[in-house]
Amino acid sequence: MQTTHLRGLLATEPALRFPADAVTSDASDPCAPSEHARWSRRIRSVVQRLARVDAEPLDVTEVTVSVREGLRCERLTLNSLTRGPFRGTLLTCEGAAPGPGILVLGGRNARLDQLTGDEAPDHPDRNVAEHLARAGFTTLTVEHGIGGGLDAERLAGRDEGALLAHAFALTGRSLLGALVGDALGALDVLRAHPSVDPERTGLFGHSLGAAVALHTALLAELPLPVCAASHLGSYPTLYERLLTGYEGAVLPGVLEYADLPDLFGALAPAPLQLQYGTADAYLDAAGARAAGEQVRQAYATAAAKDALDVLELPMGHGTHVDHAVDFFRRELSGPPPAPAAVPAQRIHFDVADRRTVLDRVDAALASGVLTQGPLVAGFEELSRGWTGTPGVAVASGSAALEIALRVIGVAGRTVLVPVNTFFATAAAAVRAGAGVRFVDLEPDGLGMDPDRLRDALDRHPDTAAVVPVHIGGIVSPALDGVLDHCRTRGIPVLEDAAHAFGSTLGGRPAGSFGRFGAFSFFPTKVAISGEGGLLTGARPEDLEDVRRWRDHGKSAAGSTLHDRPGSNWRLSELHAAVGTTDLERFAATLAARRRLAARYDDLLGGVSGLRAHPQPPGTEGNFYKYLVHLDGSVDRDALRRRLRERHGVSLAGEVYDRLLSDHPYFAGSGEDAEATEAGGEAYPRGRWFADHHIALPLYPSLTEAAQIRVVSALRSELS
Ligand SMILES: *Cc1c(COP(=O)(O)O)cnc(C)c1O
Repeated sequence: MQTTHLRGLLATEPALRFPADAVTSDASDPCAPSEHARWSRRIRSVVQRLARVDAEPLDVTEVTVSVREGLRCERLTLNSLTRGPFRGTLLTCEGAAPGPGILVLGGRNARLDQLTGDEAPDHPDRNVAEHLARAGFTTLTVEHGIGGGLDAERLAGRDEGALLAHAFALTGRSLLGALVGDALGALDVLRAHPSVDPERTGLFGHSLGAAVALHTALLAELPLPVCAASHLGSYPTLYERLLTGYEGAVLPGVLEYADLPDLFGALAPAPLQLQYGTADAYLDAAGARAAGEQVRQAYATAAAKDALDVLELPMGHGTHVDHAVDFFRRELSGPPPAPAAVPAQRIHFDVADRRTVLDRVDAALASGVLTQGPLVAGFEELSRGWTGTPGVAVASGSAALEIALRVIGVAGRTVLVPVNTFFATAAAAVRAGAGVRFVDLEPDGLGMDPDRLRDALDRHPDTAAVVPVHIGGIVSPALDGVLDHCRTRGIPVLEDAAHAFGSTLGGRPAGSFGRFGAFSFFPTKVAISGEGGLLTGARPEDLEDVRRWRDHGKSAAGSTLHDRPGSNWRLSELHAAVGTTDLERFAATLAARRRLAARYDDLLGGVSGLRAHPQPPGTEGNFYKYLVHLDGSVDRDALRRRLRERHGVSLAGEVYDRLLSDHPYFAGSGEDAEATEAGGEAYPRGRWFADHHIALPLYPSLTEAAQIRVVSALRSELS
């Protein structure tokens, strides 16, 4: 055996080893992410990427029920897309009220019927599932399905698990990833069972099953208590010294990032019990002890010492069931843990998307073309499907606005913008050399009020451009009036469509109404590239001009002559790698946003003190924001604070809570005096909107349960 080679190979220092000098979490500021929390997130994202789990629900196709000495026993057939059908058994005390549930994952050669006690166990504690069920837990035990799936003739004495592992490896997947995918599916089956309180579930695993339980917990949405028996040590000792490694128990490539104790440590602060035997023929007790010490350190820095139990026991490669029972009694009997907070925003790329981005970045790096290459061209092409008008990719939404205004030529003249928009809309006009004047909004579509625009155009005959903004992703039907006034006077319109990628009015996409449409792909927007922008326009000569401006004002492509004060407003290939990947999933993004918005519409029906902002007829928004108007009497700041503190619900940012004329930079430079209406207030509609709306969290990964939480939190705070 070439153990020297083995030793050399395994002498890797993992890149994400938990730092011995990590700072302990500061309990006084529970909101600040601790060093441990950040590290744990990185470990989990690596595990996610290496495991490549397809989150597919398991189909239950067959159930037979029997009763044995007070235990109700359901035999299930579970169907997994990757691995076909496999068996599972659910045990529960007859007639018990819904209670905690445990997914029981046995070792590699464990027999389902022994784990559940249907067959006499050949070792005292082998019937773990039965023990746990008799102690009052509903258990679901599943077969790993890696023994006996192939017929004897084809198997020809080979190890089926090894064959499968090789087949998975060929496709860049892993056997462990497949087992974890099935365990996550099984967890959903367990939680959906009428005898289980879905908020109180845990994982038990022995040996290979402990590896599956560990990785399942690392990938689960919510923290889960885990009891892991006879699977502790460091990967190098397991593989090199004891030669007991098994490819089904590790993620290929994991040691480059983390060793086994790091993975356990990343579970903190979730409750964890580790059991190992001093007479285990496969595990080295000294190695397990050292590993346990490392896990302890990680738990200590997460300020979660008490959540960890490391038990050294006088046993072989087994389980001490009584300790497991005690652990789950303690961890699952209390009130369920507080549900995870609902963040205001979540930018999510699943593993498949991340791999696509990484492949594209890799191709760009390998080719050396890092900007203005095929990915940027692809990004422009993909965008066109949603803007209906050709576009030129630029570095940001702000760059898109500024370039359009420079092409139009606004220096020394007036640009009209809505009083209720993001600072960048007006700042771009200032940088392009214009004076900015504000126009009030119309309350239905939140666009520019055409009547107020007409007044402003009368007052400012030197207006060079008008910039309507599609607030919250709504292309206001009043845009027609805006376009009419501008057409009559020959003034170009630049749509600030930063919010409105994919939105339409009368079936026409945002960005196709004015001479130019400016989009942003900043991470909080609906379509994203990290940083990035796009300028659309119907006239080819305009777009050619845009290309000159974005590339330092070169007089022609590739020329060294400069004929205008352009700048570096280019999009890089690396950003386009993200942008193209996001645009390829944009149909799904849009559908998800619209589905979530429709659900909020339904849920908010009976809630008093607020009113959802209806989508105006003829429009199809992208729900960049789900906007809600509060009754005049509601204190918005207090509401926002109470939602966060009492319910863990964060509202999304308003659009916007302050008029541009009220920002220090523009204070006094607006023209409140002229815009003041009867009653003495400037921009009364914009101001009312700015003061009285909120935006509910809405992003494609938001769950129905989270939406229900948001709405019940609102109901309880407003009633
Ligand atoms: C985000 C945004 C911009 C600026 O886009 P960046 O890509 O951040 O430069 C401009 N206008 C509006 C309305 C925006 O929301």
